Amino acid sequence: MYFDRFIFEQAALKTEYGKQLFSSLIKKGLSPEIKQGRSAVYTIEENKRHAFGEGKRTLIIGSRSPSKFENCRPSADYQLPVFTGCPGLCEYCYLMTRMGEQPYVKLNANIVNVLTNITKYIEENMPKTTSFELSASSDPLPFEEPTGIVSFIINHFASLPNGRLRICTKFEPNADILKANHNGHTDFRFSINTPGVIDSYEHVTPSLDRRISAAKNIINAGYKTGIMIAPVFLDDDWKNDYAKLIENLKSNLGSGVSTFEVVTHRYTTKAKETINNIFPQTKLDMDDEKRKFKMGQFGYGKYVYDSEKIKQVKEFFSSEISKQFPDSELLYVV
Ligand code: SF4
Repeated sequence: MYFDRFIFEQAALKTEYGKQLFSSLIKKGLSPEIKQGRSAVYTIEENKRHAFGEGKRTLIIGSRSPSKFENCRPSADYQLPVFTGCPGLCEYCYLMTRMGEQPYVKLNANIVNVLTNITKYIEENMPKTTSFELSASSDPLPFEEPTGIVSFIINHFASLPNGRLRICTKFEPNADILKANHNGHTDFRFSINTPGVIDSYEHVTPSLDRRISAAKNIINAGYKTGIMIAPVFLDDDWKNDYAKLIENLKSNLGSGVSTFEVVTHRYTTKAKETINNIFPQTKLDMDDEKRKFKMGQFGYGKYVYDSEKIKQVKEFFSSEISKQFPDSELLYVV
């Protein structure tokens, strides 16, 4: 279990799901707390670094009814507003920009409202299918063990002929996810990296072997499964390390992988500041002078590798993936 503290905002206990979750946590021998308002929740600990770790292990159950779902291209049509934050401690995490030093992990107990809204979006887009991303601002799988909510959502999507669910994760599925009647309406992408990157930067996440074994289980459970290689770091030996990784995937997952996505490392100024505060010993390569500054679609800039390096990355991954996985599709390299 990735959480050791559960805090319910009062509004969550007005929802049917919130009430059920509260009782089920008590039945599991846990001690959920109830707080009056957000300010009471957001003062867990004063020391910044300690607070960061505490926040990551604290699941806050709130309730919100977003008036509209955010766009989520290119991974899906819309974000599904169920989770925010993640108990993993990846030093480079994209959530560093969005959540800064307040990494509270939240679950929206108003799941009935969210699932009702899904139907509205699907109907508006008929006869096409409409896809929803569960991992837009979180890694959803750590939420499953205490709450059962991921398998619940997968089962719900199975009954929606024109709805598709997308999940990207570094974590392991439990038995309920593996035996869910997904009806081919949910697909998974496993976020994978070299053992060196995982050991150095992806704290509190499963090892490469455990992720590959999780991907194998998901493939065997009949889910469409892709691999996300991210973030790619271009250190001196990167070609050798990523070639070995792709060979390892080939020997363990074979033809079970449908798609690949490759994302090179990038960071924002805000993320760099947070990372340096939380991980003062970090070895992450964040030398602005060696990067190109690029404006992103959300109105802030990122430091990315220069165009020549990106060209080499594209050539390398298209060649290695087509050699080892001729039947899989490489969706993009950025
Ligand atoms: S697993 Fe993903 S969402 Fe969680 S900390 Fe790592 S990068 Fe961030």
